[in-house]
Amino acid sequence: MEQTLVIIKPDGIKKSLTGNILTRLSEARLSIVAAKMMRVSDELARKHYEHLKDKPFFEDVIKYIRGELHGKGYKRVMALVYRGKDAIAKVRALAGTTNPEEADPTSIRGQFGRLTTAGLFENVLHCSATIEEAEKEIKLWFKPEEIVV
Ligand code: ADP
Repeated sequence: MEQTLVIIKPDGIKKSLTGNILTRLSEARLSIVAAKMMRVSDELARKHYEHLKDKPFFEDVIKYIRGELHGKGYKRVMALVYRGKDAIAKVRALAGTTNPEEADPTSIRGQFGRLTTAGLFENVLHCSATIEEAEKEIKLWFKPEEIVV
């Protein structure tokens, strides 16, 4: 049994896509074992995207996940943990690749993501890419007692 972290990012919240994204993810037939709305601290954002710290777009990605690019009222995300067989690959397949312009047009990122004029990939959701990443991320975003198995 695998667990994977999903975050509906501030652009997904602003575009009122929460329901659409959860409906698309339900095609994977996984269980939701944790879910919450939250404001992302600077510390959490930097730990979550630590692997990108040397990239030129790092500060923009931090602002993006913290809701600082989408105006007042969108400084929140929905974080979830999905659990089931091959959960990581199943969610990644439904989400589509990182660059929304290159993503399968029927994937969630392909349907709803955009490349901003500043060059940032606004791709409406995050999902863990590997088992190691999922384990690290779930520990960062959730307390053990918030996960209901
Ligand atoms: P993923 O979110 O698919 O796991 P990464 O961890 O590599 O991908 O990147 C984190 C986020 O940073 C992406 O979801 C996207 O919003 C942004 N991003 C990644 N690569 C680029 C890039 N080359 N240009 C602009 N934004 C990017």
